[in-house]
Amino acid sequence: MSRIYNFSAGPSTLPEPVLARAASEMLEYGSSGQSVMEMSHRSPEYEAIIADCEKRLRRVMQIPDNYKVLFIQGGASMQFSMIPMNLLTGSGRADYVVSGVFSKKAYEEATGFGEITVAASGKDSGFSKLPDLSAVTFDSEADYVHICQNNTIYGTCFKDLPDTGSVPLAADLSSCILSEPVDVSKYGLIYAGAQKNIGPAGLCVVIIREDLIGDTLPGTPTMLQYKTYSENDSMYNTPPTYAIYIMGMVLGWIQDEMGGLEGMKAHNQRKAAILYNYLDESSLFKPGADKSSRSMMNVTFVTGSAELDKTFCQQAQKAGFFNLKGHRLVGGMRASIYNAMPVEGVEKLVAFMKKFETENK
Ligand code: PMP
Repeated sequence: MSRIYNFSAGPSTLPEPVLARAASEMLEYGSSGQSVMEMSHRSPEYEAIIADCEKRLRRVMQIPDNYKVLFIQGGASMQFSMIPMNLLTGSGRADYVVSGVFSKKAYEEATGFGEITVAASGKDSGFSKLPDLSAVTFDSEADYVHICQNNTIYGTCFKDLPDTGSVPLAADLSSCILSEPVDVSKYGLIYAGAQKNIGPAGLCVVIIREDLIGDTLPGTPTMLQYKTYSENDSMYNTPPTYAIYIMGMVLGWIQDEMGGLEGMKAHNQRKAAILYNYLDESSLFKPGADKSSRSMMNVTFVTGSAELDKTFCQQAQKAGFFNLKGHRLVGGMRASIYNAMPVEGVEKLVAFMKKFETENK
């Protein structure tokens, strides 16, 4: 067996011990005589798996008791519509921070449901720099403020949350959840597609303050109401059973092998520093994101020549470093160094980049 270093933005590399355990349990989970994939979601074995997964998430993220954890399909993109359909029930107004591709999509989707304002945008910098949210006055009557905390495509990340007063903050944490501790009580709603730091694609985790669950806009389908998930422990219909099982094991790995979210943060800071320190001193590669806005998860860079970028990605792949090509909208390169990427993967990538730099002076 040989495994690549996978720098994909998602679906992305998963912890090897988790994959190995899933493999060992593939034909029989415990003494159930079946794979988790084959198991009824109403069976006692599966009910224990989903309950345990939620318990572990609550423990790892220190989620307060007045927040519900919901397991939803439809990806993070479906939250772009569920959030307005469920939360735009007061003034019918919301403020959006547009800091990249996904927050723009979320904004555009919401405009179909109410009076939506772009409160701040990173457009002027070509999204390489985040807008200064401390300078923004948010609508105090808004039903919520929406941000995308980590911008997967541009490689930027908000380190500080905006002060939205009593207006709930709804945040897309798809590409940074579980990478470091967060204070859940500062958010009204957190959502994250699973396919980066949580597990396989097909699952979106929503952490929502209880008082935000209730009325919805007229005509909101049953499956798009948070209430449906909250009242039925995410089992109104069949949940993405296998993805939730893997998620539970990923959380076990974070807790038991990585030192929880504090340990995860130290591990991620170390990897990001190796890559950014090299990018800052390289005379060939230039970092894509402004120093003030850099993401610890998605590191973007260019050589300045589209041709050389292409050669780099090709040669990197031959050397075992996969999926370094930047998103098609921005070009260049992007190394996604999520939780499961080992330090050694980043060290070896930087050694390869140094060699490439010497050869292409
Ligand atoms: N938000 C962010 C920050 C993302 O990175 C992505 C996907 N990479 C999405 C939303 C969309 O996620 P999905 O494909 O699960 O709908």
